[in-house]
Amino acid sequence: MPARLGPPPPATSANASATMRANRRRDTGPELALRAALRAAGFTGYRVDLRSVPGRPDIAFRRHKLAIFVHGCFWHRCPTCRLALPKGNREFWKRKFELNEERDERKRRALEALGWNVLELWECEVTRDASHCVSRVARQLAHAADAHEPARVWRVAERPRRAGR
Ligand SMILES: [Zn+2]
Repeated sequence: MPARLGPPPPATSANASATMRANRRRDTGPELALRAALRAAGFTGYRVDLRSVPGRPDIAFRRHKLAIFVHGCFWHRCPTCRLALPKGNREFWKRKFELNEERDERKRRALEALGWNVLELWECEVTRDASHCVSRVARQLAHAADAHEPARVWRVAERPRRAGR
């Protein structure tokens, strides 16, 4: 097991502390936005922060074995956003982010070993286009239904389109 790093050093700027404060463990803005978009599209059968499987997915469709993580662009080092490292304590932050990426990888492997599909979405994707993220979820659910439960295929294309809210 990798060493734990302990709490981050004090932020060296107001901006950095605001970023860190915004990165709470659960019920982040993007997670809430995705859940709202899923519900609006009729996908209500998910669990939040499911503890009975590895990695405690942010959103989990148990019957379809689909685990969804909404990764914060700062903590998980989004390749699109490429957010700058905090200015002070660079070695701490580099190590911290490496451990985060290793942990993400371990979670993914552990879930896949149990037959789960893992969908990782970036905070910025959800913020930019939640309905696109919903369609990715829908595709995975339809795929899982095809694989495991042919009698209950759930096809998003057949759902009535809703006007945007
Ligand atoms: Zn991003």
